[in-house]
Amino acid sequence: GTGRLYNFAAGPATLPPEVLAKARESLGDWQGLGYSLLETPFSSDEFISLMETTRNQIKSALALPDDYQVLLLQGGASAQFSLVPLNLLPATATAGYVETGHWSTRAFEEGRRYARARLVASSRTSQFDRIPPVDHWALSDDLQYCHITSNETANGVQFHADPSCGDIPLVADMTSDFLSRPVDIRRYGLIYAGTQKNLGPTGLVIVIIRDDLLDRARPETPTVFNYQRQLERQNRVNTPLMFAVYLVHLMLDWLTEQGGLTSIHARNIAQSRALYRVIDEDDFFQCRVLPGHRSMMNVCFGLARPQLQQRFVSEAADRGLLNLTGHSHAGGLRASLYNAQPDAAVAALAAFMTDFRQRYG
Ligand code: PMP
Repeated sequence: GTGRLYNFAAGPATLPPEVLAKARESLGDWQGLGYSLLETPFSSDEFISLMETTRNQIKSALALPDDYQVLLLQGGASAQFSLVPLNLLPATATAGYVETGHWSTRAFEEGRRYARARLVASSRTSQFDRIPPVDHWALSDDLQYCHITSNETANGVQFHADPSCGDIPLVADMTSDFLSRPVDIRRYGLIYAGTQKNLGPTGLVIVIIRDDLLDRARPETPTVFNYQRQLERQNRVNTPLMFAVYLVHLMLDWLTEQGGLTSIHARNIAQSRALYRVIDEDDFFQCRVLPGHRSMMNVCFGLARPQLQQRFVSEAADRGLLNLTGHSHAGGLRASLYNAQPDAAVAALAAFMTDFRQRYG
């Protein structure tokens, strides 16, 4: 192939070259200590200050009120499927789940091992083509929390407004749209997000929790995963994911340089619209998600003639447009457009799609 390579993977995903360059520098002499970040004690002033800075960057990006705390934990997003119920409610209590695709189903299936979990809404019967409207959710006062997946990475469905659950604490898996847009934080009791989409590293999960939810952990909750214990010990009950935290710090600097959440949101809207416009032009490409519910992060689509799919993926790769195969559970094609996806990548993909349709349509 010729030209630049563009990576449309769903995560781990493309990162800004300038951030990768800075990350490489940290493998030399970090902050004049005489050794690299990887060799730095986690109890050093330098690392403690990096951790504090990173947590404050998250607070300021989201304009978190003082009664929200930020944790940087290990185990990725999937571990939170079990750690949220362990930290928030007794085994005999009930939690609500909204099922909108592959990842919310995973959260529900795991959550029900630790609590009485109940689906309050599901779009399964329409093949996850929409977000069920909040006024139709079967919410009841016995729910200790209500769990949503704000963006379904595999199905390409996204909440475009922060739902209100009244007094029931809203818990959101924001793994694949965290820091992609401003959020109405007061609607949420707890947010968690794996960082391998918009912020870079795998294995790290950011947990944002409102103070009133902090004293509810079951006694058997592992101490390293107990939100309150970790907050009391400045997130150093165990050795933090130091390099991952550094990468998140660099990505938050980068986000600020891009103009913050309002600017990045506008870019994400424009990029996703450019692809949906090509898809909707006629019946050659198809998107089963209803307009108004479509993801700005993961554009999931297919071909009216699925036998062309392999050709699409391999011709795209020849032109440097990589990793366009959909999630194994959803099938089809997927272009992920996280914060770091350059406009040029989207323009190149839109041009390729138009050309492909002309040749095979
Ligand atoms: N939730 C969502 C919405 C995701 O997209 C993913 C990963 N694709 C996960 C959870 C699981 O993340 P991890 O592999 O880091 O556990």
